[in-house]
Amino acid sequence: MFEHFETDAIRIQTKRTGEKEHSTPLFLTSSFVFDDAEHARALFAEEVTGNQYTRFSNPNTTELIDKLCSLEHTEDGIATASGMSAVFTSVFGLIKSGDHIVSARAIFGSTHQIFANILPRFGVTTTYVDINKPELWETAFQENTKLVYIETPSNPSLDIVDLAWVSALCKKKNAILIVDNCFCSPYIQRPADFGADVVIHSATKYLDGQGRVIAGVILGKKEFIQPIRYMARNTGPALSPMNAWIISKSLETLAVRMDRHSENALKLAEFLEQSPDVELVRYPFLPKDPGYAIAKKQMKLGGGIVSFVIKGGVDRARKFLDSLKWFSLTANLGDTRTTVTHPTSTTHSKLSEAERLAVGILPGLIRVSVGLEHIDDIIAEVKQALSNSK
Ligand SMILES: *Cc1c(COP(=O)(O)O)cnc(C)c1O
Repeated sequence: MFEHFETDAIRIQTKRTGEKEHSTPLFLTSSFVFDDAEHARALFAEEVTGNQYTRFSNPNTTELIDKLCSLEHTEDGIATASGMSAVFTSVFGLIKSGDHIVSARAIFGSTHQIFANILPRFGVTTTYVDINKPELWETAFQENTKLVYIETPSNPSLDIVDLAWVSALCKKKNAILIVDNCFCSPYIQRPADFGADVVIHSATKYLDGQGRVIAGVILGKKEFIQPIRYMARNTGPALSPMNAWIISKSLETLAVRMDRHSENALKLAEFLEQSPDVELVRYPFLPKDPGYAIAKKQMKLGGGIVSFVIKGGVDRARKFLDSLKWFSLTANLGDTRTTVTHPTSTTHSKLSEAERLAVGILPGLIRVSVGLEHIDDIIAEVKQALSNSK
């Protein structure tokens, strides 16, 4: 709408009521009144657009989607009650029994559960590919491959997929590309610009960015959003107006938050790179990182997540966590507060050791979601925990 992201994120406001309110009001209503019998008929026949019932649409969710479509460079979208309902609804809206999916091996844990254990019950199978071996991806495709599913950077090892390359491969193979863009937010990376068909988010993370709500969004080309909307309208994963309102307000500060998250994360990564207690640091914008060249092509900044391998394996990693004085130990990420996890013993503990190693999760790997606290305090906290965990 405007020329710059920051202005769109703040000024797109499509649901003013005429009461001269400055901030968009909260529309806590489950249904909407029809003008007359003919209006009701036309709405249900989809001959005219308008609100009917909050499971289908609500001014707060519509405004959130209007804003996000502009920020992500997509045509259409749907707001959902969680990131996982965005994943599930988009996949279920696009596949049928007998279809096949090609997925990056390193994906969010619950997404992996859907592909590995839920979809096979409906006759849909998945082949996993290694992000770091793109030369093998082509062989994973079958006659019936319908979807390709990726996250970049990956969680927690921060490997990078070349978005332009993978979307060209999908076009060639006639497969729909879904990208989970939750680690970046549209301020840092817009997969649709590189050819992605559908972009999903756990809005729980950076889009809200303050650890208050669970929410998701599905954005993309109209032709793909249409069948997904049919699935959403009838199965009911709608986002509440309250949470849509909160996220819409959060988007007003997304650009400044992502700038500071990325600035802090880069400084922490540079500190860790120099530390004798650290075996390996992963951060896409460190020049030594294997993903650096591609990350620079498709990401505006490095984002807020840094992963590192502490010397001394699982025991030292756990000691490090217990030596932290004020970082939050939580599985969440994308918060104003710095949060830390040890994937081997928590989020990825259900994988076998071999499966973990295949996606770069070494026993001493620690994932830091770098917050907006002062960087000197963040580095001091890490420094003391490194020395107190020896
Ligand atoms: C958190 C997360 C999800 C799931 O989102 P919820 O809002 O927790 O349902 C999906 N993908 C990624 C990459 C995530 O980090």
